[in-house]
Amino acid sequence: MAFGWIDEQAELRRRAGLVRTLRPRPAGTPLLDLASNDYLGLARHPEVTEGAARAARTWGGGATGSRLVTGTTELHAELERELADFCGFEAALVFSSGYAANLAAVTALAPHGSLIVSDAGNHASLIDGCRLARGATQVVAHRDPDAVRKALDGHEGPAVAVSDTVFSVDGDAAPLAALAEACREHGAGLVLDDAHGLGVLGDGGRGAPHAAGIAGAEDVVVTVTLSKSLGSQGGAVLGTGRVIAHLVNAARTFIFDTGLAPAAAGAALSALRLLRREPGRAARASEVARELHARLTAVGLEAVRPDAAVVSVRAPSPEQAVGWAADCRAAGLSVGCFRPPSVPDGVSRLRLTARADLSGAEIERAVRVIGDTRP
Ligand code: PMP
Repeated sequence: MAFGWIDEQAELRRRAGLVRTLRPRPAGTPLLDLASNDYLGLARHPEVTEGAARAARTWGGGATGSRLVTGTTELHAELERELADFCGFEAALVFSSGYAANLAAVTALAPHGSLIVSDAGNHASLIDGCRLARGATQVVAHRDPDAVRKALDGHEGPAVAVSDTVFSVDGDAAPLAALAEACREHGAGLVLDDAHGLGVLGDGGRGAPHAAGIAGAEDVVVTVTLSKSLGSQGGAVLGTGRVIAHLVNAARTFIFDTGLAPAAAGAALSALRLLRREPGRAARASEVARELHARLTAVGLEAVRPDAAVVSVRAPSPEQAVGWAADCRAAGLSVGCFRPPSVPDGVSRLRLTARADLSGAEIERAVRVIGDTRP
């Protein structure tokens, strides 16, 4: 039977407690949300939803074509200018998702004969970029600039190191200045995924590369998503005008994909302007994360010290992680649950996101529920 092997895979997954199912989120849910990536609480902010609505009314429900044909509106150009300026780069290119932006950056910057040095904890979209690229990939130890240096040693031809700035599973940060230094010594480029840094780290949320003093450098390329702290959807690559012009001509997920929907561009632009006006929102997300971590640790839970807005709590097994998250949900709290294959080390976790708009009482309630329902 065609696809008969699917049942065998499903059975293995079931036995390992790793089955995933979709659960539609009802409108106006009364759950306390510590699961979404809406770090600044902007996804439902009236200025952001109005930005989306205004853009849809002006430009339509979709971009109508790929960016090089009809899919580039003045709104896309405006968003690219403002995003580049905010993050400290010369230019930016907007994509339909952060995933597509990562595939673009890695594949277009790692040609045949090149070497890609990839952190073992990188996000799936960077890993897939490495798999699709023509260059050869070497995976190196997590957050280890010396391992990057060693991998680059002796390589002839183009090379690029690839890393998340804040890793999505544990919320730990990469040593950006040291990575940039290691790359510079070898004439290699550095591609950084700042999905979890933009809007949270750096001056007013300008991102982790800005905080590390490497934003705008000629050999640094940064990818971001518009779907986390900016409360919208889409992604972008930031770099020099030269790199961005190269992507326009060489990145297949740019050339062959329909442009970002105007509503998403409008929402992201409104969120970005709001963040400029209210820079305190960024630091508040990290503050909430630190408070969550301190309170979880105080009730005896094992949580990773957060470098940004993600707080990861260790669970004993995949089944217990799922049960724990379900018990939290039953008690009115929505938390994320990470299990293999989303975790590189096989350790399941509850994943909490510290939104800037959480009150002290909400943080207290969340910790009480997580502590009371622990397996
Ligand atoms: N990079 C990282 C580190 C992420 O966590 C995500 C989102 N899960 C992405 C890239 C992909 O971004 P998007 O959801 O916009 O496709």
